[in-house]
Amino acid sequence: MRDRRRTAAGAPTVAQRGALVRAARAARSAAYAPYSGFAVGAAVLTASGAVVAGCNVENASYGLSVCAERVAVQRAVAEGHRALVAVAVASGPAAAPPCGACRQVLLEFGVRTVLVDRPGRAPRVLALRTLLGQPFEPAALQRRLP
Ligand SMILES: [Zn+2]
Repeated sequence: MRDRRRTAAGAPTVAQRGALVRAARAARSAAYAPYSGFAVGAAVLTASGAVVAGCNVENASYGLSVCAERVAVQRAVAEGHRALVAVAVASGPAAAPPCGACRQVLLEFGVRTVLVDRPGRAPRVLALRTLLGQPFEPAALQRRLP
């Protein structure tokens, strides 16, 4: 059943938040993190209501590792979703918000709400704009130098 209750303009509903966190937790089980042991799952909610998940994928060449949040965004875009609303992140053993690089990528596609899963507790709800105070935005590319 579709939950039409809204918590704020454009924000995910309570039901959508629950689905996002569950999807992030499920994706975490697929994480490929043999080097750090820090398994992370993420799920993004699209403007059309779809949920797309990702997990972190590490590499022996550490710099090639990709965070779960960016994997989820890249999957969503590859599936035709360019308008995103929210992201949920499930990590362990410590709950952690997205890293700086992921915050920038999430902003690119419109994410506003960040849910940080905390086992045994309600997820922490954060505004991406708060996490990424003065982001580099596409409009900056259109300004001309004097
Ligand atoms: Zn990241």
